[in-house]
Amino acid sequence: MRKVFWENPYQTHLDTKAAEVVGNRILFEETIAFSFSGGQESDRAWVNGLPIVDSVIDGNLIYYTLEEDHGLTAGDTVTMEIEWPRRSRLMRLHFAAELVLELVTQKWGLEKIGAHIAETKARIDFISPQNISSLFESILADYNAIIEKDLLIHKDFSDAQTGRRFWQIEGFAQVPCGGTHVKSTGEVGLVTLKRVNLGGGKERIEIKLVDGDKQKGTDN
Ligand SMILES: [Zn+2]
Repeated sequence: MRKVFWENPYQTHLDTKAAEVVGNRILFEETIAFSFSGGQESDRAWVNGLPIVDSVIDGNLIYYTLEEDHGLTAGDTVTMEIEWPRRSRLMRLHFAAELVLELVTQKWGLEKIGAHIAETKARIDFISPQNISSLFESILADYNAIIEKDLLIHKDFSDAQTGRRFWQIEGFAQVPCGGTHVKSTGEVGLVTLKRVNLGGGKERIEIKLVDGDKQKGTDN
C-alpha cells in the first residue's frame, strides 16, 4: 500500500482502487488519509464522497471503514479526498510539538510520558520536578529562531521495508517519526505555550498555533 501522505502531504485528492473489501472494511492500493498514530489524529477523509468513519493500522496496511451501503467491490476505481485545513493544522502542530519536545529533552533531559496532536492544539506530558513554565522563555527563544530560519524539513525512510520514517533539520539528529510533515519550519509558524499541572510531578505543555487558520499548499 503506497502511502502518498508521506511522499506528498499536500495532496488532497487521489484516484486509486479498492484492493480488498470485507464488509465495511476496505483496503485501497494507495492512500492519502493519515490514520491515527504517533499521537497525530486521523485525517477527515472521504471515498467517493462517503465519509471514512474509522481506520485501523495493521502492519504496513491501513484498513478504512465506510458506512453501510458503500457499494464498493474489489477492483473498483475510487476517489479519495481529505480535508486540507485540518491536515494543515495537524501537520503544523505536529512539528511544533516535535520541536518543543526535542528542545526540552536536549536541554533539560526531561522524560516524555505522553503526547497528542489534535486540530486546534497539541500537548506533551513530562515528568518534571519543577514548574515547566519556567522553561518557556528559553524554549520559545530557540523555537522562534528555528522558525525564523525557515529550515528545510528533510524526511525519508530509515527502513523502507518496515515503513519506518524519520525527519531531520539542520543542527538536529534524525528523529524517528511516521507522521506527516510540512516542507520547512517557516510553514509551521509561531506558537503559544501553556502549562498544565497534572499533579504527581507530571507537567503538560499545551501548544497552539498563533495563526491557527493559516492555510498553505494546494492540491497538486
Ligand atoms: Zn513527526
